[in-house]
Amino acid sequence: MDMVSPYAFRLTEYLKKEIAARPEGALAKQFMPTRAELTPAPSDMLDPIGDRVHSPCPGIVHRYPDRALYLVAASCAAYCRYCFRKEVVGRTKPLSSKERNVALDYIRAHPEIREIILTGGDPLVFSDLKLGQYLADLLDIESLRLIRIHTRAPIVDPGRVTSSFIDLCRQVQVTGRGLQIVVHCNHAEELTPEVRTALKALISQGLGLLSQSVLLKGINDCELALENLFRELTYLGIKPYYLHHLDRAPGSEHFRVSLVRGMELVRNLRGCLTGLAQPTYVIDIPGGYGKVPVNSDYIKRVGPKTYHIVDWRGQSHAYTDIE
Ligand SMILES: *Cc1c(COP(=O)(O)O)cnc(C)c1O
Ligand code: SF4
Repeated sequence: MDMVSPYAFRLTEYLKKEIAARPEGALAKQFMPTRAELTPAPSDMLDPIGDRVHSPCPGIVHRYPDRALYLVAASCAAYCRYCFRKEVVGRTKPLSSKERNVALDYIRAHPEIREIILTGGDPLVFSDLKLGQYLADLLDIESLRLIRIHTRAPIVDPGRVTSSFIDLCRQVQVTGRGLQIVVHCNHAEELTPEVRTALKALISQGLGLLSQSVLLKGINDCELALENLFRELTYLGIKPYYLHHLDRAPGSEHFRVSLVRGMELVRNLRGCLTGLAQPTYVIDIPGGYGKVPVNSDYIKRVGPKTYHIVDWRGQSHAYTDIE
């Protein structure tokens, strides 16, 4: 590396091995910094999905009535160069115990929150012991029915899927609460034999697995790459849940695919891929208005590059595309 990126950089031992084996591969492109990330774009936003607007206290983002994010971790085992929270993740401290108590009090005081999404950062940066404590704190809150864990750990560090982590997940299910793990995976190349073993270990214990992927230029922005990815995930037993349109985090413009191209890709996938393997293509409306599906009446083209996007409340927001 002959440059200093302003954004956090870290690889796991596993990623170092994979990237050395395939220096031009999908993992290298996602995790190795390049000069392009130093170039600002006019559309950059420091808080692209409006986390701050909907954060009543540190660690909580409560945008939709029935579910909230609990941002327990502020770091990840490895940093995706296009990370939508790159202004925060890898640059701030995890929640203090006092902040965690305030966050738990907020959840308790809002029983309409029936689902908590443990995210960050990646909650699996913590030891199983610590993670177990976070889960126990949540299980004490009676109004919570479902716990979701958003993680990229099985992909960047398959060894992190330990038997004690699997035990923790099963303990949640024993309480009668739902547990759903959502794995962030963007390319079939990420599903190496080690990663498949880790994912199968979770699935074989009856844990529900979904995937979320980000549409990324030069990595998965062709029909074949997306088809292979969603096919392989589905055959493993993982339901492709979301395909995210890239958020406007600084220094990620070189990864951006236009909405027109994204819609075309998704439309073309319909014809060649089982419906079981079709994720919903979603865009997080800049400013904190939430996610909406892209291929729908929610988005109306009003000019050559301009769109009106209607949020879940029916309010309209202007959006300018790149082409
Ligand atoms: C994405 C997101 C969720 C989860 O949304 P689902 O559509 O239920 O997957 C919840 N809260 C916030 C703030 C989010 O950004
Ligand atoms: S795993 Fe998620 S939070 Fe972590 S660097 Fe990647 S996109 Fe950001």
